[in-house]
Amino acid sequence: MRPIHVVGGGLAGSEAAWQIAQRDIPVHLHEMRPVRNTAAHKTDGLAELVCSNSFRSDDCATNAIGLLHEEMRRLGSLVMQAADANQVPAGGALAVDRDGFSAAVTAAIANHPAIEVHREEIAGLPPADWDSVIVATGPLTSPALAEAIRAATREDALAFFDAIAPIVHRDSIDLDVAWFQSRYDKAGPGGDGADYLNCPLTRAQYDAFVDALIAGDKVSFHDWENTPYFDGCLPIEVMAERGRETLRHGPMKPVGLTNPHAPQEKPYAVVQLRQDNRLGTLFNMVGFQTKLKHGEQTRIFRTIPGLQKAEFARLGGLHRNTFLNAPKLLDASLRLRAVPRLRFAGQITGCEGYVESAAIGLMAGRFAAAERLGEALAPPPATTAHGALLGHITGGHIETIDAGPRSFQPMNVNFGLFPPLAHGPTRGPDGERLRGPAKTVAKKRALTARALDDLARWMGHDRVAAAE
Ligand SMILES: Cc1cc2nc3c(=O)[nH]c(=O)nc-3n(C[C@H](O)[C@H](O)[C@H](O)COP(=O)(O)OP(=O)(O)OC[C@H]3O[C@@H](n4cnc5c(N)ncnc54)[C@H](O)[C@@H]3O)c2cc1C
Repeated sequence: MRPIHVVGGGLAGSEAAWQIAQRDIPVHLHEMRPVRNTAAHKTDGLAELVCSNSFRSDDCATNAIGLLHEEMRRLGSLVMQAADANQVPAGGALAVDRDGFSAAVTAAIANHPAIEVHREEIAGLPPADWDSVIVATGPLTSPALAEAIRAATREDALAFFDAIAPIVHRDSIDLDVAWFQSRYDKAGPGGDGADYLNCPLTRAQYDAFVDALIAGDKVSFHDWENTPYFDGCLPIEVMAERGRETLRHGPMKPVGLTNPHAPQEKPYAVVQLRQDNRLGTLFNMVGFQTKLKHGEQTRIFRTIPGLQKAEFARLGGLHRNTFLNAPKLLDASLRLRAVPRLRFAGQITGCEGYVESAAIGLMAGRFAAAERLGEALAPPPATTAHGALLGHITGGHIETIDAGPRSFQPMNVNFGLFPPLAHGPTRGPDGERLRGPAKTVAKKRALTARALDDLARWMGHDRVAAAE
């Protein structure tokens, strides 16, 4: 049987190679280290963790990342096996001994009879006679390959930095303060004239907000990242430093809007949030990309009227990254529409984090294996953590209603990506009416139970398809 090629032996590539090899399909895994290094990797081990040693919460009942761990375990993930075998104490989190973890992945791959490891850089588009390739070269994809991918896609389809604005769960926004309206009620393509949530600030609130942004603690760039302030993506704190009125004439301009809660009062400034996913559960803070530390973001953004109780699905950031405009470029099984022999996996697809990258590697491996064996493999249901994450990458995100720069940005797995429950829990086990945090926990439990049930059903179909 012809081999499947996997380029990049990080979290995603190692997992993809493993999933393919477990179906007895030959795999050639091409990893450039140690022949060529990245700015962040320090070893020649596969699946090296470049920074923290944490896989985050391991609670599969009430946490979306814990659920993703559990689903991966059920799907025979090598990354999860190696993580579980190299766990170090970290409370409710799954943290690992990084060297032991990487050594376990490296040994499992090296010892698998179906996998050949080639230590070489793929310095351009993979050769045309490689008919099935998974590109999993990560946020620090080597420049020669990145340039070839850019040329095969489009000028702006591959980004080299992310500029992330915070994303808020819609049901945590106070609609007694905020209101839906597009500037000048402009509908735009796909819009209805009320596509933004607007949060009004008085002059005193705006002044205090600008002071807080300037004083807030910021994260510094790594030496190798340079300062990537590029068109239209200045961090808000940098805008605030440039002049007190800069934000009011930029993302916080109050024009074209009337507050229905106080029609006579003109807000001095407005923060706008725009729907981010098709489900309408997540809203991003328009123009609020920032290098403020996460704790500072939560503290300062909750001073904005309407966001006092905001729950953040993602906080803002600006990083060196390499990622595709995946919702446009990739099909539902992660193939590049323009060159379908190339599939993508890991952070380069627009997910964020070690575990998410490995999970997308797992799915890419399964899709490629099914294709090689002539099987049909439907994507996992959108109600599972794998399906929710895939949905974000391959179609769940909506483009802005305005013509402008693309808006797709990397995302960790979170419950905002899941379709809401048809009937959320209202009563506890003793029949008591659920309120506040107890209701939130019950809802999360219902979401994770639904996910694991649906995953089991999907895996059942998967096995039936494989047996046929
Ligand atoms: C500096 C930094 C810190 C991060 N910290 C964290 C963190 O603390 N926690 C977290 O969850 N996530 C973190 N991330 C985000 C991300 O989840 C990780 O980078 C994760 O490793 C991504 O997995 P991946 O498999 O997509 O890429 P990687 O794990 O980076 O794997 C890609 C592999 O491809 C190889 N490669 C690149 N180009 C080529 C080529 N042309 N030919 C052959 N091989 C190639 C690389 O050497 C590498 O081994 C961080 C990212 C960066 C850049």
